[in-house]
Amino acid sequence: MTVLVTGTAGFIGNHVALRLLEAGHQVVGIDCLTPYYDVRLKTARLARLTAFPGFREERIDLADFEEVARVFEVYRPRRVVHLAAQAGVRYSLENPRAYVDSNLIGTFTVLEGCRSVGVEHLVFASTSSVYGANREQPFSEHHPADHPLTFYAATKRANEMMAHSYAHMFKLPSTGLRFFTVYGPWGRPDMALFLFTQAILKGEPIKVFNHGDMVRDFTYIDDIVSGILHVLDTPPLPVTSLAPLPDPATSPVAPFRVYNIGNSRPVTLLRYIDLVEEALGMTARKIMLPMQLGDVPGTWADVSDLHADTGYQPETPVEEGVRRFVEWYRSYYNV
Ligand code: NAD
Repeated sequence: MTVLVTGTAGFIGNHVALRLLEAGHQVVGIDCLTPYYDVRLKTARLARLTAFPGFREERIDLADFEEVARVFEVYRPRRVVHLAAQAGVRYSLENPRAYVDSNLIGTFTVLEGCRSVGVEHLVFASTSSVYGANREQPFSEHHPADHPLTFYAATKRANEMMAHSYAHMFKLPSTGLRFFTVYGPWGRPDMALFLFTQAILKGEPIKVFNHGDMVRDFTYIDDIVSGILHVLDTPPLPVTSLAPLPDPATSPVAPFRVYNIGNSRPVTLLRYIDLVEEALGMTARKIMLPMQLGDVPGTWADVSDLHADTGYQPETPVEEGVRRFVEWYRSYYNV
């Protein structure tokens, strides 16, 4: 089967593409290697994929409508995993334009590509950030998600609505996945685990926002990849958590769904730092700071819907996941 994956030089897309190639699928990978963070890391991730004869790389910008249309026409994929995006909550305070180009226009071109070749199932990335500062925990797909705190979250929530409308108007079956803080080997240099590990090893202080009281549902990359592949293989169900659909028997709608995908065992930031210190055998120098604009005090995924529909079950305790990240970091950077 040919699967088109966007964001194959990125953290999650790279792991997904690798798992699909190992399972014998053909993968077409789209990524333009944006300079948001270290492009050498992205190139090294891509090198893990180019070793497979079933991998085709298309280095194009998703905001380029004609190029995206060409790729869909040439490969005519049956399934699409759309993970490319301008990620990062804080960066959307500095450069909102990047989120319009990659997340809004980029998702539009993917939806149009899917429509043009009649893709059977589109699975796309959303985020726990759509819940904003929702106080009701754990976050459930049945809670409102109408008050995003950052422009990043707003574009991701818009992606869910765009996909919902394509399911309705053009019978494109799709599933959105709200990821909860993903970490693991080959992880993102702008995220806490990478920054903490890097700073501690260099003997530099680390910035601890909200005095370490923030709670996050850190989710190990392998559990995210398994969840994505479970969903990709499960035809989407004719229900929606965004809005009641008309009677599917009389209406030309396609199935659409959003699911949380997280570890469902949140820990405080201070506990997370403890685990990094233990894994490194070193002590961090901490600079305690207040909460930053756009941050939320806590995230915690209710994954019961995903479990009921696909059997998804996260397996990696955060202690183990942090150890595996630190091991990868030390060997990759030879430190
Ligand atoms: P990442 O930044 O590592 O990967 C995204 C990739 O998309 C990058 O390689 C980038 O070059 C590519 N890209 C961006 N804009 C593009 C464009 N216009 N055209 C072509 N390629 C483009 O991020 P990630 O952590 O792998 O995130 C994957 C997806 O999951 C994103 O949609 C992100 O919003 C979402 N997400 C991630 C997390 C997390 O904790 N990592 C949490 C919630 C949601």
